[in-house]
Amino acid sequence: MSAELIDGKAVAARVRQEVSEGVAALVAHGGRAPGLATVLVGDDPASEVYVRNKRRACVAAGMVDFHQRLPADVTQQQVEDVLDQLAEDPEVSGILLQLPLPGHLDAGTLVDRIPPDKDVDGLTTGNVGRLALSRPGLRPCTPAGIERLLDEYGVGLAGAKAVVVGRSVLVGRPMAQLLLARDATVTLCHSRTKDLAAHAREADVLIVAAGVPGLVGPEAVRPGATVIDVGIHRDEAGLRGDVRFSEVRAIAGLLTPVPGGVGPMTIAMLLANTLRAARDTGTRHGY
Ligand code: NAP
Repeated sequence: MSAELIDGKAVAARVRQEVSEGVAALVAHGGRAPGLATVLVGDDPASEVYVRNKRRACVAAGMVDFHQRLPADVTQQQVEDVLDQLAEDPEVSGILLQLPLPGHLDAGTLVDRIPPDKDVDGLTTGNVGRLALSRPGLRPCTPAGIERLLDEYGVGLAGAKAVVVGRSVLVGRPMAQLLLARDATVTLCHSRTKDLAAHAREADVLIVAAGVPGLVGPEAVRPGATVIDVGIHRDEAGLRGDVRFSEVRAIAGLLTPVPGGVGPMTIAMLLANTLRAARDTGTRHGY
């Protein structure tokens, strides 16, 4: 058996097309074009690339790009002031504070400065709480993208056994909450889990977000399972994930490749969140 591959590029392109159409419709009905404010502190090269890609995608979708670049030695107060200004600005629908921040800044406090309704990364305490309580809110982009991939490929979640490897605030935890909200029976594994493979082998849906190259092989996969590889690692051979692709492909039913699986979904869902934030604000303002 050879797993069917999940085409994240194609699904992400569809989401981006839907967002572009949603933006055009909003503007055609007299609304203001959604605005995405990216805040980048310092000069971490990887963060620069991520932010540049987000800004380009936002413009390509017909949204307005508000970018704030702050020096690495900026003070906590200065970042707070910038976030407060963006929070007040009616043209800004979504605010994204690119992480990680330089060590002297308190990232948790700064993220929580973003109003939950503009928190397009879904990382504020308000949105984390809404997700935990199954209330409507903006969801973190990578797990929301995975949920969309599972839906696009008709993977049933109600009653399914789902195993998530990794419990980060960004991926693992919200992923587990999203799956729980869809009535899956969820196991959340982490670095202290005993016999990871035994847990993973139980999964109908296995989501691997450990950040350890090649952590999951065929011994940890139930034949026919859906396997989502969130990991991204660059080595001499190019990009690879947390899952040993060719070995697992021989046994899984559905599998995401790296690259071209989960990766493209993250920016697509950021755009979807920004449109949603703009629509929600517009609704409150009566247009
Ligand atoms: P992270 O913050 O480093 O968290 C990793 C999690 O995996 C932690 O909960 C850790 O457990 C757990 N873990 C580490 N080693 C493990 C092991 N041997 N067995 C079981 N669990 C283990 O990473 P992250 O931000 O969630 O990202 C995970 C991976 O996804 C990275 O490769 C990252 O680059 C990638 N990523 C991709 C996208 C995308 O758009 N495709 C987005 C975000 C992240 P403890 O909590 O016990 O330490």
